[in-house]
Amino acid sequence: MIITLKKQAPQQEIDKLIQSFESRGLQVTLIHGDNYNVFGLVGDTAGLDEKTIQANPFVEDVTRIAAPYKKANRLFHPQDSVIDVAGIKIGGNEKIVVIGGPCSVEGQTQIMEIAQDVKAAGGDMLRGGAYKPRTSPYAFQGMGTEGITCMVNAREKTGLPIVSELMSANKLDEFVEHVDLIQIGARNMQNFDLLKAVGRIDKPVLLKRGLANTIEEWIMAAEYIMSEGNQNVIFCERGIRTFEKYTRNTLDLSVVPIIKEKTHLPIIIDPSHATGDWKLIESMSLAAIAAGADGLIIEVHNNPECAWSDGAQSLKPERFAEVIRKGRAIAHVIGREM
Ligand code: PEP
Ligand code: MN
Repeated sequence: MIITLKKQAPQQEIDKLIQSFESRGLQVTLIHGDNYNVFGLVGDTAGLDEKTIQANPFVEDVTRIAAPYKKANRLFHPQDSVIDVAGIKIGGNEKIVVIGGPCSVEGQTQIMEIAQDVKAAGGDMLRGGAYKPRTSPYAFQGMGTEGITCMVNAREKTGLPIVSELMSANKLDEFVEHVDLIQIGARNMQNFDLLKAVGRIDKPVLLKRGLANTIEEWIMAAEYIMSEGNQNVIFCERGIRTFEKYTRNTLDLSVVPIIKEKTHLPIIIDPSHATGDWKLIESMSLAAIAAGADGLIIEVHNNPECAWSDGAQSLKPERFAEVIRKGRAIAHVIGREM
């Protein structure tokens, strides 16, 4: 961290600052310039807050050199992390994983049929929401525990590991017992208590990007989970809010190489929530694979017109199978399997 002090900063103030940094175990180098004095701080500055330092009237500027995240940082962990979800490996040069399933579990028959379709198409895992974060309190809120039970039965029948969204730490035990990959949804990306709660277990966590969050905020959300002990975090880009109205959100594919450069964790893409339109899912899926994504999570429904949520962005099983067929060809070009 570099701190620029105004020239008129009295010696007493300089000494006080040096002492406060040294008491935190930081190494302080002071450079006297003609117009400014500059402090160079070396050591673990993660606990320092730039804004607080800036509150000092003699401080002109504060620049952080190192990223504020440590556990997720590739700098301290150069090799790719490969996350194991019930035997399926995600990340590194492993097979690109495809997760398919409805936005919401609507009943045992529905999820069983879709699970079999996802499996037949070549999907690796089954998604299905039982606790739904809906914009309106009057919209379908999910089947709750019954929905999780339906998912468990579908896993038993097909062997597909299951992915579902956890909205509250109250249900953590239920998810630890039954769900293979715990999704933290976009709306909860900065629910820090929930992040800490999933940080204290060792089940893999699928961390979606918030609707309007920067990449650094997203990595810091992963850091919340990892700093509590759980290193099994997978990022999921699901589109961000922009001024654009022709799509539900704007798919930011540049995050794939950025996340891979900055962190050692895997990243998958959700083209369903990113676009809101089933017609865009195939092309965005292929682009995501080409960009280096470690997987896809796609909403699949056998009767999208009648889906209880997100039908417009759900693929029919045969279209889902087509995405996997074409995706395999793209994966081959970049030297991966799918
Ligand atoms: C979902 O996966 O159904 C969902 C609600 O996702 P997001 O949190 O990305 O909106
Ligand atoms: Mn959905």
